[in-house]
Amino acid sequence: AKQFGIDDALTALGIKEINNGSSTGVENFASGSEIASYSPVDGSLIAKVTSTSKEDYEKVMEKATEAFKFWRKMPAPQRGEIVRQFGNRLRELKEPLGKLVSYEMGKSYQEGLGEVQEMIDICDFAVGLSRQLHGLTMHSERPGHRMYEQYHALGVVGIISAFNFPVAVWSWNTALAWVCGDVCVWKPSEKTPLCGIACQNIAASVFKENKLPEGISCLINGDYKVGELMTQDQRIPLVSATGSIRMGKIVAQAVAARLGKSLLELGGNNAIIVTPDADIKMTVIGAVFGAVGTAGQRCTSTRRLIIHESIYDTVKDALVSAYKQLRIGNPLDENNHVGPLIDTDAVALYSKALDKVVQEGGKVIVEGGVLEGKGYESGCYVRPAIAEAKNDFEIVQHETFAPVLYLLKYNGDVENAIALQNGVVQGLSSAIMTNNLREAEKFLSVAGSDCGIANVNIGTSGAEIGGAFGGEKETGGGRESGSDAWKIYMRRQTNTINYTTELPLAQGIKFDL
Ligand code: NAD
Repeated sequence: AKQFGIDDALTALGIKEINNGSSTGVENFASGSEIASYSPVDGSLIAKVTSTSKEDYEKVMEKATEAFKFWRKMPAPQRGEIVRQFGNRLRELKEPLGKLVSYEMGKSYQEGLGEVQEMIDICDFAVGLSRQLHGLTMHSERPGHRMYEQYHALGVVGIISAFNFPVAVWSWNTALAWVCGDVCVWKPSEKTPLCGIACQNIAASVFKENKLPEGISCLINGDYKVGELMTQDQRIPLVSATGSIRMGKIVAQAVAARLGKSLLELGGNNAIIVTPDADIKMTVIGAVFGAVGTAGQRCTSTRRLIIHESIYDTVKDALVSAYKQLRIGNPLDENNHVGPLIDTDAVALYSKALDKVVQEGGKVIVEGGVLEGKGYESGCYVRPAIAEAKNDFEIVQHETFAPVLYLLKYNGDVENAIALQNGVVQGLSSAIMTNNLREAEKFLSVAGSDCGIANVNIGTSGAEIGGAFGGEKETGGGRESGSDAWKIYMRRQTNTINYTTELPLAQGIKFDL
């Protein structure tokens, strides 16, 4: 790690100081058990973090609730100014934070920097938004009345995030929630606790410089049990949860049981349809990046390629030869394309998926396997694999969070491909590769892709912050980031004002006294 400057990055992010006991970021209290953070890059222990106990959590909630009373009254454009400063601090710390993301999570350094860039972009978006949190005005049916709607801050927003985007997902939520006047309590993944601490340090420094209450941004650490403190907490009107479908089903039910709101960003099973009119070169680049980027650990990773039979062999051969060129190794080394999986449990699930696809009648055409020897000591490096399969195989229906790509064949019209693409429980990202206008428009029509994201001539993976991000069906239905995603972080109020001396009732009802 030394040769890649990890120690310097940790120092720049203030990790050493906070690791002396505080994991809440609110005060120096944290009395729970320890979580050890190991790097999947080289297997070494980076640091230990104290998890948040129930008592700590209560102190955090007290701080957050109190901070909300102040923050909600600050004019939104002034809150935007704080978010602008936060974005600038991220610009200054982009390299160390990108490096920590790469080292703790295992994605390439370039992707780590890209994640921090996404944080900066959402801050910029939120700053503009802070002057546009507008509702509508309506014409009242009653004379001398005015009717309009306004959006108010919601309260304490709980954020639960996954390991694979250990910093960006938090900022997608916080940057919007903060300009909306909310305060945030964040539980990052227990697999990437240091990324959480680094972000909290950055936010806390900006709030402190502006003499603002520290409870505007809070951090709690730990596994699902710590997450449950938030899902069951009546004081948290909105829980935004990113992670597996399994987790989402539990969180949604816990939050719904107390009639709270949840914003769910869950698993995907993303496909690219490749029609006879596709540009093969673009298809191969899009599919390979989508399937092996972040070692297949993106919610938008390409899991399935649905290829027309007339070009099936051409696409297959091009993919097999592209996979031969992939270099697997330390993600901090820019020469490598594919880094490690998050941990050895993820490696076991990857190996199981490859066994299962063969058991179900599939054929592996690019062999997988776990890498051993020098540079692979962590045991987390695997070979990206490709298998020919059928859409109804159980394993194909399931999201395996690893670089395994399934090739599916279709014949006839593009409708058949769309049926396969939609024939899974998840509904996050989808794409079609075609230069045929009719096929592209069918894919985007109401009878087309049923996903939250549908692309033409680009792959499934990655997104820009200007658009609303999220998916349908078991992906959870939540939308974050751009467009009007901010509305979920606010409560809407309809106001009717009477400026006459009469009190007419609606619908012509008479009530004379
Ligand atoms: P995970 O579900 O194991 O954990 C996610 C988070 O949920 C963690 O912080 C975990 O501690 C917490 N959690 C788990 N059970 C909980 C419970 N009962 N109550 C409260 N909190 C609980 O997911 P992971 O392995 O970290 O991430 C990978 C998954 O996340 C994949 O399925 C991926 O597709 C999905 N993901 C989705 C998006 C999206 O935007 N749709 C983005 C990133 C990741």
